[in-house]
Amino acid sequence: MTEGFEMLRAAVVLAGLLTTLMTGSPACASDTPSHPTASVTRDHSSWTVVLTLDRDVPVWGFTASSRMREGQPQWRPLQWRFETPGVVLDRVGSHDVIRSTDGAPVPREVKLSLTPASAAVVAAYDPALVFSDGAVAMFSGQFDVFPLPSIEAARDLPEDLNGLDLDAEATRVTWRDTRGPVLFQGRRVDGATAADAQTYVLFGEAGLEEHPAIATVVDPEIPQWVREAMTAYAPSITAFYAERLGDGPLARPTIMASWKGPTPGVTSMGGSVLPGLIVASFEGEGLVERTESLVDMARWFIGHESAHFWLGQVVRYEAARDMWITEGGADLMAIRAAQALDPRYDHRSAVQREVDDCLSLASGGGVASADTRGEHRAYYACGAVFALAAEGAEHRRSGGDWFDVLRPLIDANRQDGVLTRVEWLDHFEDLAGPEARTVIDSFLDDGAPDPRASMARLFDLSGVRYRVEGERLILP
Ligand SMILES: [Zn+2]
Repeated sequence: MTEGFEMLRAAVVLAGLLTTLMTGSPACASDTPSHPTASVTRDHSSWTVVLTLDRDVPVWGFTASSRMREGQPQWRPLQWRFETPGVVLDRVGSHDVIRSTDGAPVPREVKLSLTPASAAVVAAYDPALVFSDGAVAMFSGQFDVFPLPSIEAARDLPEDLNGLDLDAEATRVTWRDTRGPVLFQGRRVDGATAADAQTYVLFGEAGLEEHPAIATVVDPEIPQWVREAMTAYAPSITAFYAERLGDGPLARPTIMASWKGPTPGVTSMGGSVLPGLIVASFEGEGLVERTESLVDMARWFIGHESAHFWLGQVVRYEAARDMWITEGGADLMAIRAAQALDPRYDHRSAVQREVDDCLSLASGGGVASADTRGEHRAYYACGAVFALAAEGAEHRRSGGDWFDVLRPLIDANRQDGVLTRVEWLDHFEDLAGPEARTVIDSFLDDGAPDPRASMARLFDLSGVRYRVEGERLILP
């Protein structure tokens, strides 16, 4: 199970990275940035798109241009066919572009037909999730285009477009299904129009269930135990978080779980989180039979990812170096919620793993810069340890738990939507005192030359009980 768990971890880290990527929407210095629109229609099995461009340029680039993980680099040529004469799809540098074949401006209206398919891409959202009943969830950002003066300009673009002036707003996309409503931001609607929605739009049924606090979309062919985890555990854990922390994100949360079949030799769970939406993908014969550890892993995934609806979306971090606030915080939320909802859940091992991992990662340098050392796990483990310290101090003061620490922090920042390091540490200092704050500051900025001694001091100051066993700190 270690391998599956690490894949899950990788996916969770990826989700964090994507949050960073997606918040850097193209800024537009121009007075009149381009406003492309797209109309996407499914008519039974045929998909058509009309892309309407608002200026005459010879090249348009695609913001979402990530390579596929396997096979040829581009997924668009496998799924898109241009119907408008004289317009072709190309790959220039690290970006997909559309251009005219003769160097003239691309026509203002470009028609294409689609054959959506699963395609795993690198460090970005897959363009489509295909369910076994024929339902399809389409990633909303795949039609975002920006104008370019020439092929040379496209070649000069860096791979990472963050911070560049792309001179275009996100494409305003209309989604329609002639057979009935689509699912958009947790609701069934006859059609939806939005720009920069950062979501998946579902065409078809795919086992949709609408619960008060969450909508679940689970592939009808998925193994039964996964279905139970998704349709029973996800609604109960999101209801638990809402009860303890107040309102979640505006859109009704949704979880979509796709199934790529019982591929021999494969045990794979992966996923990512978007505004109000968890996307999970399951594959492999290793997932067909229910085991306790698989159930725990799936529940952990749901618990951690749906925690981000609050800690990550209602409030987000200020910069990626503060990821310990959201990742460690989400870890402790998932542990405490599982402990409350499932009597057989082994919360002690989960907490101990955070302590052990933080101890092994904290000596090499500051947690805030862990990404530069490839130690993403430090944000999770040490962030959870800091959360444990805050919880210990809250418990000493009021008898409360981690949610009692978080609720006022979230409420105080609902308006601006950002929970900064200083705000977190100010609140922590109120609970645990100035010296405890200093210990966390040094973990974050410098690392701890003797992590065990520093963590023990942090626990002493915040009232977390532990015992020393060799090089380890063991929590009761
Ligand atoms: Zn996370």
